[in-house]
Amino acid sequence: MKLSAEVISIGDEMTSGARLDTNSQWLSQRLGELGVEVRFQTTVGDMLRDNIDVFNIAIERVDLVICTGGLGPTQDDLTREALAEVSDEPLEFRQQAMDHIESLFSSRKRPMPERNRVQAMFPKSSQIIPNPQGTAPGIDLFIDRGSHARCRVFALPGVPAEMQLMFKETVSHQIAAMSGGGSVIRHHVMKFFGIGESDMEQRLGDMISRDRQPRVGITVSAATISLRITAMTESAERCTAQIAQTKTEILNRVGELYFGDGENYEQYHVIDSMLRARGESLALLELGFAAPLGDWFAALGETPAFRGGLSLAAMPNVSLEEIQSRMRSDWLLVVNAYPAIADDLVGHVPASEVEFILVAPNGKQHAHRITIGGHPDILQPRIGKTAMAWFRGVVAGLRTA
Ligand code: ATP
Ligand code: MG
Repeated sequence: MKLSAEVISIGDEMTSGARLDTNSQWLSQRLGELGVEVRFQTTVGDMLRDNIDVFNIAIERVDLVICTGGLGPTQDDLTREALAEVSDEPLEFRQQAMDHIESLFSSRKRPMPERNRVQAMFPKSSQIIPNPQGTAPGIDLFIDRGSHARCRVFALPGVPAEMQLMFKETVSHQIAAMSGGGSVIRHHVMKFFGIGESDMEQRLGDMISRDRQPRVGITVSAATISLRITAMTESAERCTAQIAQTKTEILNRVGELYFGDGENYEQYHVIDSMLRARGESLALLELGFAAPLGDWFAALGETPAFRGGLSLAAMPNVSLEEIQSRMRSDWLLVVNAYPAIADDLVGHVPASEVEFILVAPNGKQHAHRITIGGHPDILQPRIGKTAMAWFRGVVAGLRTA
């Protein structure tokens, strides 16, 4: 069954613009992965009347309501009261929740303020959603409505880390079970570089359909594409098998652009492993007005595969072999050059002529000229990433040659 949802974020800090509502984005992405159609996102301040209105509207128009915020112990935390009013159920004290809150305070060696007792108050028929990291437990509540089936409301705290953990550990499984797919959920992320989002969508075709099982979602970050596969079945084994099958299908369609798996896996990780396996090392020379590769490789930490990077305004008056030997590296990768991005370029899409040079361990030089464009915000990282993709291609080609 296809479920519809509304995500509600509660707090004056969002309606005043003091803080960006990131919870709604995160939750909407996760709900989408579970095959739930998010029809509305609503933001409301800390006013009881307004909260009641928002809940009343939401429960009439969707199957699931997920709200965040307003579960704290203070006067302006009103989600409990609003839900009691909307469901017409009195709040009752839950010892189990109180025990958890007390244990949290005692483990932090602090006395529990009396006002935290309100966090143990729950609408009569609701279930507690455990919050392992914080004092505010969540609320899981079915609310009757006039014409059709009951609406299910999940109320979670506003703190993003707590909210996310509670969603992953409890709420997501409840939703998966409701939609009939089985309550075991597994994710797998595949990474790609060298293709735009719309081309990727086109090549994947029906694989990214919302009704596909497992679901495949696309996200892009600074020109790197992530495909996130989400399987929901009755067992971990079936999830794993479905993911493996989908992965094979994806590789059949766009395999040549794939470089690895995992949310945080990037091309510099591939290069690091590749060079370690060969017992070789790399140094960088980045010219111009940025040096993203140096940053990325340095963040790998201690690795025998990376000797360091130079960032210079222009080509120095020294030979590349000299630099390669001074840096005691097997490979030297040169990016010539990252362009200056002027403030008045914002809104334009600059394109830049860039040359990559690679000095191989035997001293032979390979070069590649390319025009790279992109939004000013991502142009420099895209140049660095294009350089890494080219480097991987050359090294792989030399090995097989
Ligand atoms: P508690 O008071 O127990 O921490 P709570 O449910 O009352 O939980 P809030 O007080 O509303 O949560 O928010 C706690 C923190 O989470 C604040 O720093 C707030 O800015 C942040 N936060 C709340 N809602 C969101 C949101 N939608 N997106 C991002 N951050 C949020
Ligand atoms: Mg609040």
